[in-house]
Amino acid sequence: MPLLINLRQLEKQDIILQGELPVKELEISGLDECIEASLPLKYNLEAQLLDESILVRGQVSLDLQCTCVRCLKVFTRRLDLRDWAAHIARVGDEQAPVVNDMVDLTPLVREDILLEFPQYPLCETGCQGLSETLKDAPRQAGGARSESVVSSAWAELNKLKL
Ligand SMILES: [Zn+2]
Repeated sequence: MPLLINLRQLEKQDIILQGELPVKELEISGLDECIEASLPLKYNLEAQLLDESILVRGQVSLDLQCTCVRCLKVFTRRLDLRDWAAHIARVGDEQAPVVNDMVDLTPLVREDILLEFPQYPLCETGCQGLSETLKDAPRQAGGARSESVVSSAWAELNKLKL
């Protein structure tokens, strides 16, 4: 069920919208190969009728499953839009579509969620990528050997410099 504002209701009073939006309503799956979402988006919003628009303000949050672009570790990042606000025009070219006295907030939320997507998801700032992860991992048989291969490669490079 999308995130709808009932205009008839809003003409009488401000509306509080609280709840969860199934993530499939956002249609964000597959947009970014490093980012997925499975849990519903949570919202806590207040809608207010102005002369020519509807003002919606509040909080929107969504947990994303990101894949670190450097080490491929999957981690969760919460998008927290704490001061989210939208102006929905009721007149003019930008007028929001109204269906059965309902205005759908979903596209607006979706747009801002997409803007907040991490461009370059990292499991932590300064993640060194796969090589670092391997170095930190408990040493497996052969681990020491591969390290000596690396250091002899450096030795070769140093020789070249000389
Ligand atoms: Zn990482």
